[in-house]
Amino acid sequence: MMIRIKESLGIAVLLIIAVGSMLVLHLAQQGTGIKAVIEVDGSVYKQVKLTENRTMHIELKNHHGVDIVVADGKVHVEHSTCPDGICEKMGEIGSPEETIVCLPNKVLIYVQ
Ligand SMILES: [Zn+2]
Repeated sequence: MMIRIKESLGIAVLLIIAVGSMLVLHLAQQGTGIKAVIEVDGSVYKQVKLTENRTMHIELKNHHGVDIVVADGKVHVEHSTCPDGICEKMGEIGSPEETIVCLPNKVLIYVQ
């Protein structure tokens, strides 16, 4: 009898841990109000939540373009027509202090 009580207690504890961690994960996902702000030529072009996976193509006045990808809570420049390609090499950003800059195209991406 004692063993059964211990077993069911163990299962109950496991269930509480499982449900608890699911709740925490759920709350954590809801709590991320983090968004990527894309500025073109000094003004805000678009704001995208990092939880929304999407690909954006920005058409610039100089007939150049920048492809920006939001995936798995991060944002990066997939392709850019700038000559140096530094923005592509900057890789993914996902924290508020990180930025991607494309000087030739006057594109600025930062996380807020
Ligand atoms: Zn660039």
